[in-house]
Amino acid sequence: MTFAELGLAEPLLRAIEARGYTQPTPIQSAAIPAVLTGRDLMAAAQTGTGKTAGFTLPLLQRLHESGAGRSQRIRVLVLTPTRELAAQVGESVATYGAHLPFRSAVVFGGVKINPQISRLRRGVDILVATPGRLLDLAGQGEVNFSGLEVLVLDEADRMLDMGFIHDIRRIIKMLPEKRQNLLFSATFAPEIRELAGTFLHKPQEISVAPPNATAERVEQWVYPVDKKRKAALLLDLVVQNNWQQVLVFSRTKRGANQLAQYLEKAGVDAAAIHGNKSQGARTRALSGFKKGDLRVLVATDIAARGLDIAQLPQVVNVDLPNVPEDYVHRIGRTGRAGASGRAFSLVSADEIKQLEAIERLTQAHLPREYWDGFEPDHELPASKPLGRPRAAGEQPARDSRRTGERRGGQGKPRAGQREGAGRRRSRRRRNAAGGNARA
Ligand code: AMP
Repeated sequence: MTFAELGLAEPLLRAIEARGYTQPTPIQSAAIPAVLTGRDLMAAAQTGTGKTAGFTLPLLQRLHESGAGRSQRIRVLVLTPTRELAAQVGESVATYGAHLPFRSAVVFGGVKINPQISRLRRGVDILVATPGRLLDLAGQGEVNFSGLEVLVLDEADRMLDMGFIHDIRRIIKMLPEKRQNLLFSATFAPEIRELAGTFLHKPQEISVAPPNATAERVEQWVYPVDKKRKAALLLDLVVQNNWQQVLVFSRTKRGANQLAQYLEKAGVDAAAIHGNKSQGARTRALSGFKKGDLRVLVATDIAARGLDIAQLPQVVNVDLPNVPEDYVHRIGRTGRAGASGRAFSLVSADEIKQLEAIERLTQAHLPREYWDGFEPDHELPASKPLGRPRAAGEQPARDSRRTGERRGGQGKPRAGQREGAGRRRSRRRRNAAGGNARA
């Protein structure tokens, strides 16, 4: 299958070629023809699958085909949960639409509103927005949706997680009834289906990866370590492996700051990216990381969501997320678009519950490895049987997965369950190239 066979016009094919893509990804092969029919669409696809081009390309094609002249009215609205994702979608629209006359703009909070108002007044065909800022602009009468043809909800699952449901409903009420709706989400969880039911009309459903499958071609390891030694282990991994670009996940903003400071003090260029940082600081950190000026970017889950950093060789989870789906999102930052990647999780004894939830969700036993000099006082128990996989869309046991509470006595290795001393091998300088859980 080629992009030309998908029916895309020459100006788009030129832009795709310039971007260096030779073949559509599976989500693109499925979504492009679906969007071109004009029907509503519900697509299960994670970041890293090429989903952005999967909706941007056919939307540009549709605008191109309808050939309407310039007007002051917005024709396509893309809603995203985070500023970074909005900026990245905006960049994609600009890249793929380079040889077409359409005007696009990106609006999000945390930056001045006046330049965004001036931009909107000059006329925009495609608007990419985060919900809060869009409502502010709408409240000031600065957006005209009377000509809106298509609404895209990108990363709808994350929008719900972030509490945007009321904003989304308010925005949908402002739009013309007759329009095409596209919803992209990592999973079709029941709350996503419920939302879809309220505004999609007989949607076509596509799903390219089984929901909750871990990213393809990502090798994964668990490094058991005592909690207080995690920062030192991270530093040792970066230095001993001579990693030049590593994305590190921290569950908390404070933890992210502390880690970045610790690495900086040790002479490793690092920065933290999270919701309390100003937009300028976030943008600077991200571009420094992309350019190779920063070796380590420490991010919280929300800040990292949707970051488009091409082909990261490895990610490190300094702690495990309370929500197992976030693990899948985190490791989706590596091994993207055909490249293979590696994910390392530093796990302390109090995180066994989260680890088991992740193994159950991904239906994979994550191999435990030990890093010389960082063997924990409290070993992790061996993997439990994985149990029944959750059916697609089945509601997880929310209470237990969000609390991350400690299990009694889990710190003590249990007879017959522990990784025996004979299995302990030195991993230093091994560069983690051996057997693993390949998802
Ligand atoms: P996305 O899932 O939209 O965030 O895209 C993930 C990454 O895949 C981005 O870096 C894209 O530039 C890249 N990408 C998208 N489509 C293709 C393609 N057809 N071939 C190779 N890379 C692609």
